[in-house]
Amino acid sequence: MSKPIHQTDVIIIGAGPVALFAVFELGLLDIKAQLIDILDRPGGQCTELYPEKPIYDIPALTVVTGRQLTEQLMAQIKPFHPAFHFSQVALKLDKTENGWRVTTDAGTIIDGKVVVIAAGGGSFTPKKPPLQNIAAYEGKSVFYAVRQKENFRGKNLLIAGGGDSALDWAIELQPIAKSLTLVHRRDEFRAAPHSVAKMRELVAAGTMKLAIGNLTDIKGKDGQIEAAVLSTGDVTCDTLLAFYGLTMKLGPVATFGVEMKGNLIPVNTENFETSLPGVFAIGDINWYPGKLKLILSGFHEAALMAQKAFRYVHPDRKWRFEYTTSSSSLQEKLEARE
Ligand code: FAD
Repeated sequence: MSKPIHQTDVIIIGAGPVALFAVFELGLLDIKAQLIDILDRPGGQCTELYPEKPIYDIPALTVVTGRQLTEQLMAQIKPFHPAFHFSQVALKLDKTENGWRVTTDAGTIIDGKVVVIAAGGGSFTPKKPPLQNIAAYEGKSVFYAVRQKENFRGKNLLIAGGGDSALDWAIELQPIAKSLTLVHRRDEFRAAPHSVAKMRELVAAGTMKLAIGNLTDIKGKDGQIEAAVLSTGDVTCDTLLAFYGLTMKLGPVATFGVEMKGNLIPVNTENFETSLPGVFAIGDINWYPGKLKLILSGFHEAALMAQKAFRYVHPDRKWRFEYTTSSSSLQEKLEARE
């Protein structure tokens, strides 16, 4: 059966900090958004590259970590109910009669009047464990992301890694896996302290195992893993999920048909529209004279983009500038937070 086509006003490619704030600016103008990200969570570089590091140059926040900034942005956009399509690559951009269609590598199709490319440094791609024969197992019994939790039900699962993805998925999949072992090269973890504490609780309760050691080889045949070889001994498993971090490559954005300048998308500074009408680029992915790759620059770009997006989405409505402090209709929307 073919998948239903999602309908929205604005399709946002990326769910980094700039994309999240764009949802807010669009929401103020009664514009709905759906977001696609390769990652399995929002926050882009903030959550993937520096979740615990302090950021000091977000206006009015003396200091905030990458993870906290993402949590605050998610709380700020809650009244606008954005839909997220995580763990999917936006692969294709096509013109439709009324706007644009984006298709992902998971077969999700989203139609909208406007597209906002907020793809930052490009698509994050998984770093693979440096094992000679791993390619023969990929997509069969070795995976680098969780597309559907159900695929891991009843499995003897080995999760490798020590960051947020490894620990969050270990905690999430432990109830449905037949058995679950987390393997990490040392008994110290980069993940959020509350996730580490939860993992240790589950290990103490005997509902999952923790193995310390380097993953040096995998055993199995015809793409089916049977055991992982660690420097400290073998662990039997039928599925391996490896979270060894991510690197950034431009990825499919280069094939969308927008004019490019190297790996960046040139835009005008009035509304950050690209060479394709109705397609905007904001945040680290865009280029204009004087561009600074800062979160606050992306926030400014999101605000101006939204004003032009309004003209595409609501051509029949008169655009009116309003402050959130003095507009009762905006306040009503924002107070629907809980
Ligand atoms: P990103 O955060 O890069 O998010 C883009 C998202 O798009 C990613 O999640 C990616 O997976 C997704 N994506 C890309 N292509 C596709 C596709 N085809 N399909 C689906 N999803 C896709 N900035 C500051 O202002 N202050 C600081 O102190 C600061 N410190 C930093 C420290 C470090 C170590 C680093 C690396 C950066 C720092 N930055 C800082 C820069 C800041 O993180 C970026 O400016 C910001 O993340 C840009 O946000 P963005 O939303 O444009 O892109």
